[in-house]
Amino acid sequence: MQITVLSGGVGGARFVRGLVDALQHQGHEETLQDQGRQGAPDPTRVTVIGNTGDDITLFGLRVCPDLDTLLYTLGGGVDEAQGWGRAGDGRQVMEELAALGVQPQWFGLGDLDLGTHVARSQWLGQGLSLSEVTGRLAERWGLPALGVQLLPASDQPIETHVVVDGPEGPDGPERAIHFQEWWVRHRAALPARRFTVAGLGQARPAPGVLEAIREADVVILPPSNPVVSIGIILGVPGVRDALRGTRAPVVGVSPLIGGRPVRGHADACLAPLGVELSAAGVAGLYADFLSGWLVDEADRDGSFPRGVTVERQDILMRDRVGAGRVARAALDLGLRLR
Ligand code: GDP
Ligand code: CA
Repeated sequence: MQITVLSGGVGGARFVRGLVDALQHQGHEETLQDQGRQGAPDPTRVTVIGNTGDDITLFGLRVCPDLDTLLYTLGGGVDEAQGWGRAGDGRQVMEELAALGVQPQWFGLGDLDLGTHVARSQWLGQGLSLSEVTGRLAERWGLPALGVQLLPASDQPIETHVVVDGPEGPDGPERAIHFQEWWVRHRAALPARRFTVAGLGQARPAPGVLEAIREADVVILPPSNPVVSIGIILGVPGVRDALRGTRAPVVGVSPLIGGRPVRGHADACLAPLGVELSAAGVAGLYADFLSGWLVDEADRDGSFPRGVTVERQDILMRDRVGAGRVARAALDLGLRLR
């Protein structure tokens, strides 16, 4: 079985880890049932297409926050409380950069985490593609042994920018800032006029991305940010068409519960799109290819797109076990819609 997931950072990574847990548990049960039968059961492959719109060059290093969150979470190296970055990481390099007056200082990178960015930057500088670099990092974190393949959405650099008011306010000229500056430095508190994605027009899906969608048995949208995570992947030319054309059901989990993001600022991202802040509103963004949508029991109302099977259950990933439960439910919904 081929499962393909389009993922952002923390929400997506926790979901994918839950999915891997659920599959391993199921594999165990199947193995027990299969005892005495010949041949190994068809292994399940999970291909994760990671958002690269968050990527940024800092201190001369290429940083891919969502890919790294996926690597660290799946590989057992993530700072669990924070949801991103390395567990037990230090700040010595950042402290030294601050002492030197090097900017920016609003984006914190831990010492161990910097190792990833140094390696990535060196390999990119040697001419490797981001896919190849991501493959090397995935080996480091043991993803192939989990049956997980991690692909960047694109090998061409794409960067999400946020258009906000200039110094003269709403009536004056606008300015664009990098998504990370808006999200991390300003905590999404500057009203976004719109989002633009530098490089998107020239970007192509990374090798394997379209195939993973076309050849999937189930495509899953985890509870990732619909605008700046999944929305960016959908904007890479060819991806949306592949989702419309795939024979696999596309199912998703709402990132909003009771009309509110569970964490982060998805509300500030949806506002400039004029999309209703609700599980139904987010489903509307995917209406042209979505077959199934998992929402919380709290989300009873709202007009969901026609033809989408809506299921209700607890979709809060309280912990790793809870994430496994949510992932299992999404996969089961997809398998039922095949
Ligand atoms: P980011 O790149 O780190 O911002 O992470 P993602 O884009 O993958 O996911 C962020 C989204 O996940 C936010 O909109 C959250 O509301 C949503 N989210 C986080 N935890 C949960 C959860 O436990 N359940 C659900 N349904 N959504 C969640
Ligand atoms: Ca992100």
